[in-house]
Amino acid sequence: MERFINQNTWGTRLGIGPNGMFVDDMQKKAIIIGAGVIGLSLAKVLAKHGVDTVVYDSKKKVSDNTAKASGIFSKDGLSRTGINYHGAIVNTLDGATLRAGKESMRIKSPATKAYVLDRGKLADICAEEARAAGAEIELGRRVDRETVRRFSSDENSVVIGADGAVSTVASAIGFPPIKEHILTYKAEYSGAAVEDTHMVGLYFSNKIANRFFGWYVPYSGTKVEVGIGVSGRAKKTSTKAFEQFIASDMLSPIIGNARKTAGYASMIPVSQRAVTVKGNVMLVGDAAGQVKATTGGGIIFGIACAHIAARVIREHMTQDKSLEVYEKLWRKRYGLDLGLHRLVHSYYSYLGEREMEWMVRLSKMMGAERFLGKYGDMDSPSLIIKRFFLRKKANS
Ligand SMILES: Cc1cc2nc3c(=O)[nH]c(=O)nc-3n(C[C@H](O)[C@H](O)[C@H](O)COP(=O)(O)OP(=O)(O)OC[C@H]3O[C@@H](n4cnc5c(N)ncnc54)[C@H](O)[C@@H]3O)c2cc1C
Repeated sequence: MERFINQNTWGTRLGIGPNGMFVDDMQKKAIIIGAGVIGLSLAKVLAKHGVDTVVYDSKKKVSDNTAKASGIFSKDGLSRTGINYHGAIVNTLDGATLRAGKESMRIKSPATKAYVLDRGKLADICAEEARAAGAEIELGRRVDRETVRRFSSDENSVVIGADGAVSTVASAIGFPPIKEHILTYKAEYSGAAVEDTHMVGLYFSNKIANRFFGWYVPYSGTKVEVGIGVSGRAKKTSTKAFEQFIASDMLSPIIGNARKTAGYASMIPVSQRAVTVKGNVMLVGDAAGQVKATTGGGIIFGIACAHIAARVIREHMTQDKSLEVYEKLWRKRYGLDLGLHRLVHSYYSYLGEREMEWMVRLSKMMGAERFLGKYGDMDSPSLIIKRFFLRKKANS
């Protein structure tokens, strides 16, 4: 570790960066821990704007371990990430079947709403883009707590923890904890029988998927991913929940004769940390808990917050502005939507099986299938609410 700290962290250089930004005599540097999609997206934007940027990751390849997560992203959200993701598309999605007890609801849109992406390919694309912009990516480099503290002791550096749900950066610097995690298990099957290859299935039962849900996502007519999450607060493992889920009548027709080809356990943070900047250390993505509590989706919001972080870091390096403004900016822009996701998650988490069935029935009676098919937005509940009231106004 000593070797690359000396080489990469404390160089001195005079000159002009790629965008004409003046590079000071004491080398200012962004040190990102974690080459996940969020860390790499941040690295790309920083490097593009002339910030000397290095990313460290313990993995040997950026695509290692990425299959433990799913790759469902809203089309609109993806278009805002700035990633040229097209080479990673596996399938397109235009709707969802929701199941709670004996009730089910089918939300179908006339157009593609979301993509299923290959997470390994997405990571490769992000790494290529970051390198092309000028960022240095050092793989096979685990950064321990002591090294985090040493990095942060150089006041010319900004250290960014993009190191996921169990963040070494956060624990080394003493950031407040994430209050709730969802434990997940995801498996892939071939030889499945999927009726509509462009619809995902969502299964709600607080008895089986405590404080979360089960899902299936078709990759094609015969390949399907099945997964489930349970709150870390439940006294249950995700594999136990998974066994119960695959035996359910929602899944048996789909994977009855299929063969399991892979399985992965992981976790998702579903609450934000109370603090995400301390001195010259910042947190982004899962490390900050910038995740939709309802679905566990963290990429779209994580990248959006990383873009804010990039702007703040540049202004800090060029105009000596405080890094603390990052905290205010991301919460102001995305705090409402992340908070609404959290609110819906908390509400749903206390519903019994009967109440959930009743909710689905009531939603159907109120025309939710048609409304969500037309106006639904996977990322922004505040936008759905706005559309709901605008539609009411237009109809009155
Ligand atoms: C089952 C499941 C399904 C999901 N489905 C979706 C979905 O459909 N859509 C969506 O948007 N999101 C989804 N998510 C969430 C999404 O995967 C995360 O929000 C996203 O990966 C977070 O990105 P990140 O870069 O912040 O962290 P990560 O992807 O976790 O990357 C962190 C990186 O840091 C590295 N690292 C960690 N510690 C160290 C260290 N000490 N030293 C060096 N390197 C280190 C790791 O090796 C890793 O590469 C899902 C998650 C799970 C578990």
